[in-house]
Amino acid sequence: MTTIIPIPAFRDNYIWAVRKGDTAAVVDPGDAAPVLAWLARTGVQLCAVIATHHHMDHVGGIEALCKHADVPVYGPADESIPRRTHPLGEGDRIDVPGIDLGLSVLDIPGHTAGHIAYFTTGATPLLFCGDTLFAAGCGRLFEGTPSQMWTSLSKLAALAPDTRAYCGHEYTLANLRFARAVEPGNGALAAREARDTATRARNAPTVPSTIADERATNPFLRAEVPAVRAAAEAHAGRALPDAVAAFAELREWKNAFR
Ligand SMILES: [Zn+2]
Repeated sequence: MTTIIPIPAFRDNYIWAVRKGDTAAVVDPGDAAPVLAWLARTGVQLCAVIATHHHMDHVGGIEALCKHADVPVYGPADESIPRRTHPLGEGDRIDVPGIDLGLSVLDIPGHTAGHIAYFTTGATPLLFCGDTLFAAGCGRLFEGTPSQMWTSLSKLAALAPDTRAYCGHEYTLANLRFARAVEPGNGALAAREARDTATRARNAPTVPSTIADERATNPFLRAEVPAVRAAAEAHAGRALPDAVAAFAELREWKNAFR
């Protein structure tokens, strides 16, 4: 059986360990220390490193992990990833050794120019989406345009509704506060906020969510929904011509939202 374990890092990062038996791959190890501590505590052998994008809080631990164990490093072809052995882009498929995990790759630029996602299909579909899709939110546009990010998020939204989305940070409650400001009449959103607030109150992760949850409550996937579009237009003080313009306004609004 495959299990996915969050290894907390820094203030709010999650490094995801994908474990089968006594072997595990880690996704986005920004820091080696908590991963090495987890490996030592559990007796698990590291079999691979999987990276979604080049930011240091996602790749900063790779060098030290590769000194600990000489493992393959999967990462985006178009970004600088330490020790990368397998450069990847959309349409690629990898078989991660040791844990019987096949992953398909999507290009999802916007947060960074070469950001990729990894997903599976089948009985329990998984998505590792780094800093592009967050639970109830999305990443900032450091290296891409709103149009690119909207297209990237739309690809993720099109995955199977029961896909479990593993993102890189615990930002959910702040994201939900913003989502409620955008869409105060969304009942699914109110229910999710109650659930996730209770989850955080017992110090548990709100991640993963599902693609179905995100489609129902994440304003950044809902720029085409009339109520969301209207909220973006009210904030902008002008009509917005399309979903990309509404998405861009939502992203700007969130950047300044406290
Ligand atoms: Zn990032």
